[in-house]
Amino acid sequence: MTALGLAVPPGFTITTEVCRIGMETGELPEGLWDEVDQAVRRLEESTGRSFGSGGVPMLLSVRSGAKFSMPGMMDTVLNLGINDEIVESLIAWSGNPHFAWDAYRRFVQMYGDVVLGVDDHRYQDVLEELRGRRGVDDDSQLTAEDLREATEAFKKIIEAKRPGELPTDPKLQLQGAISAVFASWSNRRASDYRRLHGIPDDLGTAANVQLMVFGDLDEESGTGVCFTRDPGTGERVAYGDYLPQAQGEDVVAGIRNTLTLDELSSIHPVCHEDLLGIMDQLESHYRDMLDIEFTIERGLLYILQVRAGKRTAEAAVRLAVTMAREGLIDKETAVTRVEPASLEQLHRPHVAPHNEVAPIVTGVAASPGAARGAVVFDADTAVERAKAGEDVILLRPETTPDDIHGMAAALGILTSQGGKTSHAAVVARGMGTPAVTGAADLRVDIGAKTAAVGEVDIAAGDVITIDGTSGAVYTEPVELIAPEKLPELEQILAWADEIRTLGIRANADTPADAIEARSRGAMGIGLARTEHMFLGERLQVVRQIILAHSDEERSGALEELERLQVGDFEDLLAAMDGLPVVVRLLDPPLHEFLPSRLELEEEALRRVRAGRPIDDLMAMSKEVARWEEDNPMLGLRGVRLGLMVHELYRMQARAAMEALVRRIRAGGNPKLELMVPLVSTVEELIRMKRVIQEEMASASETSGLEFDVPIGTMIELPRAALTAGEIALEADFFSFGTNDLTQMTYGLSRDDAEGLFLRDYVEQGILKTDPFQTLDIQGVGRLIRVACLEGLEANPNLTLGLCGEHGGDPESIAFVHGLGLDYVSASPPRVEGARLAAAQAELAAR
Ligand code: PEP
Ligand code: MG
Repeated sequence: MTALGLAVPPGFTITTEVCRIGMETGELPEGLWDEVDQAVRRLEESTGRSFGSGGVPMLLSVRSGAKFSMPGMMDTVLNLGINDEIVESLIAWSGNPHFAWDAYRRFVQMYGDVVLGVDDHRYQDVLEELRGRRGVDDDSQLTAEDLREATEAFKKIIEAKRPGELPTDPKLQLQGAISAVFASWSNRRASDYRRLHGIPDDLGTAANVQLMVFGDLDEESGTGVCFTRDPGTGERVAYGDYLPQAQGEDVVAGIRNTLTLDELSSIHPVCHEDLLGIMDQLESHYRDMLDIEFTIERGLLYILQVRAGKRTAEAAVRLAVTMAREGLIDKETAVTRVEPASLEQLHRPHVAPHNEVAPIVTGVAASPGAARGAVVFDADTAVERAKAGEDVILLRPETTPDDIHGMAAALGILTSQGGKTSHAAVVARGMGTPAVTGAADLRVDIGAKTAAVGEVDIAAGDVITIDGTSGAVYTEPVELIAPEKLPELEQILAWADEIRTLGIRANADTPADAIEARSRGAMGIGLARTEHMFLGERLQVVRQIILAHSDEERSGALEELERLQVGDFEDLLAAMDGLPVVVRLLDPPLHEFLPSRLELEEEALRRVRAGRPIDDLMAMSKEVARWEEDNPMLGLRGVRLGLMVHELYRMQARAAMEALVRRIRAGGNPKLELMVPLVSTVEELIRMKRVIQEEMASASETSGLEFDVPIGTMIELPRAALTAGEIALEADFFSFGTNDLTQMTYGLSRDDAEGLFLRDYVEQGILKTDPFQTLDIQGVGRLIRVACLEGLEANPNLTLGLCGEHGGDPESIAFVHGLGLDYVSASPPRVEGARLAAAQAELAAR
């Protein structure tokens, strides 16, 4: 920005390398402080001010600056270079003792808090007492003498906890602040934020040392934050907050309610116009929507920092498309500007337009979308309740970066203070969580865990609805509806489709899922899990088949199931007419279909108490015992069950062929594929294929039709991957079942690990990410690579797909795109994201 000729307070940057050295060695590199001294001297020369040696005082700020912006997560220290003497020079220079003492007390407070770790609330207690004494409710109304008293009191608080550690020497102050900013890269909230947003831990932050300009110098001063376009919707309107007589942190912290940019234009018309011009200039320079911090000092506008603005998914999509249309970026860049995972947010509910319920309060519409949930008043409770499966709304006076875990767990965020650019607003938009901020009429009592507006009281646990699109808050139920489709979303996905080479299918087991998947652009079904068709009422029939004593008993149940299956397959083929549908033969971990013995025994006990007979239960319990496995996931599943109870697979193959015949006769264009799960040795596939082909032949004979139904297998066991060359000779396609492949490669139960220790593993850094969400490229990925190579070598016509959860994960998509897979299959809500991720993978590989 300095190079562009903008009024940026001068300064210098200590690069991320220094931070990384600090992380690796535990110490900052030798010679750093000498270089810092030299840079400070240059700064003194260029500004004509002095850092601690008489004359006009130069105060400095130290801010973090990382590759990816993490709003509010790292530390900043302002007003460095002040002490008992310098404060007097500052009074002489500014002619404003109130300002000078406020700068000093802010420095002591921030340095104590950030650098020395002396807790925050005691400073607030001092200020509160002073405000009480004066009968005012804003710090800006305190006198210079009050602020001097506050400074002294703050020093005492620090002295009590860290004796002799608050430096009076500006040089030492600067060193302490720089070290603290580097250290803040590794604080808990920054680590949490990185984990939430997939930012690597080893990047490190830079430290920017910059001359202070003062938004609290006099009535002609103030500070603000603005966005070049609306970060909630992406619309081309300037958007921001301004606080007269304040320092930057006051705006972001949401401590006082702010003015809009329009209101700024009436106070400082020239600065306002300049600011709009600069916003345009910076946007055409950086070609992105920007978040800009500015300060007006005695009527002069300064730009303090700029970064790419955090935005909602809706805004990201709209911005990418409109900027491409404006010629600011090309289509390829537009496609990279939207985070694939965020597209799911676009389908979040909104308040119905005809809603007539009156809101209890209206605040700032800070992050769009509506959310309904039980009110919680602190971040830890939000996490606890959300873990227990409850929908919660986090209600706070304002949020701080320490609340980040609770914000991530909450469905919506409501604050009584803060504007459009407060921490709560910025972070909520980044997370895609609906938020209402600055609902000023809401009185929040954090201690009592209550809030009130007029006559309405809100207690912890009360269900409320917040509408981050309009800013309204409701205690009465309101109707929520699915949002309308964004035309810009269609556009960006169309561009993604032009770019990508990887096919995208969906995992869908019901016609409703298939229709949804198709409407989101899925080009077929990559996995229809037939066991999902056997739940609910049909469970009894499946149980009969498994537990049958005689062939007659079994065949009766089988016939009933076959009839139902024909209908299931017909509906799926109709919903996906013209596109491939991979029907996977049954893969139940058996225990999912059988009653547990514990349940049976409990039921038996109840009956005994009621004096009713239990013979049938005892018989059932015996049967269940016969099938019981210690490790069902490693047991009689998939093709193993198919081979042991082969009437089941035969029935499914017959039903699928019958459905195919019916669809063809109905004039459709069905494209059926059949898939065998959990194969570990080629012999399993050979035998299963024989059964399927017999059913195909008989369907062909009775219908007089010819079929082309590919038969493939899942590759989801390490042995299958390692013997893929043999298996490929018997398969038309492979579909990598990366859920099982991950489970079996790690020896980590996918059902249990998450709850037991996987989260701890990730938190402690033993694993970088959850391998069930993002493919483990070194291990599981290596098996996939081997299977692709050896499979294709043996059978060049082999089609390759992936249908585990990783099919919707951008990093995993990029990996398999690189391997040349033909398609991935994702759950319907993730299909759009997968289309985008596939295009991004192609662009990254070009
Ligand atoms: C898999 O294992 O990745 C898979 C898709 O099958 P399921 O999740 O049904 O075991
Ligand atoms: Mg599986």
